[in-house]
Amino acid sequence: MNVVAPGPVAAPVGGIDGLVNRILDFSLVDGPGNRLVIFVQGCNFNCVACHNPHTIDVCDSCGDCVEPCPEEALTLRVDRGVSRVGVDLGLCTGCDVCLEVCPAHSTPLARWMDVPAVVERISSVAPFISGITVSGGEATLQPGFLQALFSAVKSTPGLAHLTTLVDTNGSADRATWERLEPVMDGAMVDLKALDPEVHHRMTGQDNSVVLESIRHLASIGKLHEVRLLMVPGINDSVEMVERTGEWLWGVDPDVRVKLIGFRRHGVRPRYADIPEANPGHMSRLAGVLRGAGLIDVVTV
Ligand code: SF4
Ligand code: SF4
Repeated sequence: MNVVAPGPVAAPVGGIDGLVNRILDFSLVDGPGNRLVIFVQGCNFNCVACHNPHTIDVCDSCGDCVEPCPEEALTLRVDRGVSRVGVDLGLCTGCDVCLEVCPAHSTPLARWMDVPAVVERISSVAPFISGITVSGGEATLQPGFLQALFSAVKSTPGLAHLTTLVDTNGSADRATWERLEPVMDGAMVDLKALDPEVHHRMTGQDNSVVLESIRHLASIGKLHEVRLLMVPGINDSVEMVERTGEWLWGVDPDVRVKLIGFRRHGVRPRYADIPEANPGHMSRLAGVLRGAGLIDVVTV
């Protein structure tokens, strides 16, 4: 099967088709129960600790990965004056050489999928899962796809029991959340840092919209979880975590908080000298959050 890469295009902002990096049929770490996870391509943050950096940018079909592919699965063709990279999925072995050489931290394997195709994939595993999660990249950059996909799940016989969750960096505005709310069961929101300067250093973006997203989702009962990724020396001081705990308690004392220790696996080489989280310090930080009044704190 030959697939043509999406580029060159801007990051997706709407429409019904989704630009999908990959689909994982079963996951126990992307929300409650066993879940099918759709990882979309394209993100508006550039996080220091990103474990999926090749989902950040959309392929611009520069062609740099064509020659290095050891299976000759990639081709560069010109279609009406526009270069496009095609991939023969029958030849691709998933060796990831293309990811390693891509100067844009992208992938030639992302592809546009329409909602019926994704629903068909979900249907094939529906008896074995409790829900679906759209992750990324940043899922909310493709609100049209999300809304259409979740609507289809809710209205398809045999799928309506599945919960629909979004794993997000929280950067969506109120209008986007209001668009998704009728068909979205909940969101898991990453809060990289409460301090705006630290947040900017970690993501390249301001955190005011993230904080507003957390407040809004809590107010409508759709905040499934807040995720705090602790990166040693950057956002894991006791003082910073204590203030974060107090802020979250003010939003919702019952909010579920997942405290995640930084691991180097998958991050870009330039961040490989950041130390990994210390288990003892993580336990202490969990205690700090509980001391701020939060009841539902888990550490992973
Ligand atoms: S090197 Fe990266 S941007 Fe260039 S064609 Fe390959 S995946 Fe696309
Ligand atoms: S994953 Fe490996 S085999 Fe597949 S397209 Fe990329 S470089 Fe080629």
